[in-house]
Amino acid sequence: MSIQEYFVSLFKGIHSLIKGMAVTGKELVSPKVTEQYPENRATLKIPERFRATLTLIYDENGNHKCIACKTCERNCPNGTIHIDTRMVDLPNGKKKVKLDKYIYDLGSCTFCDLCVTTCPTHALEFSNDFEQAVFRREALVKQLNYLPEKDEPAPAPAPAPADKPEEATKPVAPEPPKE
Ligand code: SF4
Ligand code: SF4
Repeated sequence: MSIQEYFVSLFKGIHSLIKGMAVTGKELVSPKVTEQYPENRATLKIPERFRATLTLIYDENGNHKCIACKTCERNCPNGTIHIDTRMVDLPNGKKKVKLDKYIYDLGSCTFCDLCVTTCPTHALEFSNDFEQAVFRREALVKQLNYLPEKDEPAPAPAPAPADKPEEATKPVAPEPPKE
C-alpha cells in the first residue's frame, strides 16, 4: 500500500465513523417511543379500532340488541361463537325465540370482524381492552350476555273503543201509522 492509499483509506474510515456517530447522536436526543408497560397502564393509548375481544353492546338501561338470529354464529369461519336460545311465550299468546347464552371463545377467534359486520341489529362490537391474558385456555371462553335476560314487556293497553258515529246514536223517528 502506498502512502497515498493509506491516507485515503484512513480518511474514509474516519468519515464512516463520523457518519455512524451522527446517527447515534441523533437517536440519543430524539424523544423515546418505547412503552414502559405496565408502569404506564394509566396513560396507555390503545387505538380505538384495535380488536381485542368481542363484546355484546349494552345500553344504559342494560338492554342489548341481539335477536338471537344466529347470523354471527353461521358466518364465523371457525366456530368461535355458540348461541343458545330459548322459546318464550309472549303476552299476546305468540311465541318468540330469545337469546339464552352467547358463548364466545377468544382463544380461537381470528378477529376477522365478520360477526360484527354481518349482525343485522348491530349488537356486537370489538372492544380494545387488550389485557386478556389468562392462565387456563378454558378461561378464554366467555358468556357475552353477562346481565340477566329481561322478560318481554307487557303489551300496551288496548285503545279505548271509538265513539259511535252520530248517525248511530240519533233517535229513530217513529214509523207513520199504517192506513
Ligand atoms: S349478535 Fe347479531 S347476528 Fe348474532 S345472533 Fe345476535 S342479532 Fe343475530
Ligand atoms: S371475529 Fe371472526 S373468528 Fe372471531 S368470532 Fe367473529 S367471525 Fe368468528
